[in-house]
Amino acid sequence: MSDRVVLVTGAAGGMGAGHARALAADGWSVVLADVADCAPVVAEIRAAGGTARAHRLDVTEPGEWAALVATVRAEHGALHGLVNNAGISRRLRFLDTGHDVWRQVMAVNVDGPFYGIQACAPLMRDAGGGSVVNISSIAGQIGYFSPSYSTSKWALRGLTKSAAGELAGWGIRVNSVHPGLVETPLLAGSDGFVDSAVASIPFGRVGRPEEVTGVVAFLLGEASSYMTGAELTVDGGLVSNGTYHRILTEMEGGL
Ligand code: NAD
Repeated sequence: MSDRVVLVTGAAGGMGAGHARALAADGWSVVLADVADCAPVVAEIRAAGGTARAHRLDVTEPGEWAALVATVRAEHGALHGLVNNAGISRRLRFLDTGHDVWRQVMAVNVDGPFYGIQACAPLMRDAGGGSVVNISSIAGQIGYFSPSYSTSKWALRGLTKSAAGELAGWGIRVNSVHPGLVETPLLAGSDGFVDSAVASIPFGRVGRPEEVTGVVAFLLGEASSYMTGAELTVDGGLVSNGTYHRILTEMEGGL
């Protein structure tokens, strides 16, 4: 039985694996869940002296969530943190987004966190409260060309605020994180898209996964104990200043 237990979805790779490694190094007992194999990341964490277990979970399946939460209750007796990180992106324009793509993106990015919060909240309540961190995106704060991704991330922002009000009475905080462009496999195959996008980022570069991890750890920890229903943007200034950064750079002949 560990003092602080956190469940991270999509933890087999990308940012989720980074969150899991860092949280374990910070003393959390980490439950890694993914449709892909989390065993290699768990092995790394254990080799570094941390506590972690790997579980297969398809976040779109409420029955799999129920089974995993029952396992966590049996193995750990408590749950204090949930990071709804699993997500997919399909960079298709509006008229190219077919029914199957739309449903798949909604299922992973919206249904997943909804089922996750529903399944985990009673165990968190029984542990005396907890913190849920939903990984949205800047695509959930501005209009983004891919309708499935943008709509799903806006929906996750709304789900965050709805759950924050509903679960406050149980001592469960719910906040969202909105990364900009971050160097992970999710960006792979985006061709010139990333290079062009960097021209609108005042910091002049994409983010590193650990720069998102720090914010996730903050929202899980005591330092954010009075925060709920909040959204934190982690984007090198893209949303707040991207337009004028690009305009001024072009006017000054920098592009
Ligand atoms: P990634 O593609 O590297 O990793 C996503 C992980 O989710 C994978 O391990 C995958 O197996 C898992 N996953 C996919 N479908 C699943 C399902 N049904 N059930 C369980 N696990 C599933 O992505 P990433 O870049 O690390 O992104 C992590 C989160 O951050 C996502 O929610 C993404 O939308 C968000 N995000 C990423 C960026 C970026 O630039 N990389 C920017 C903003 C937001």
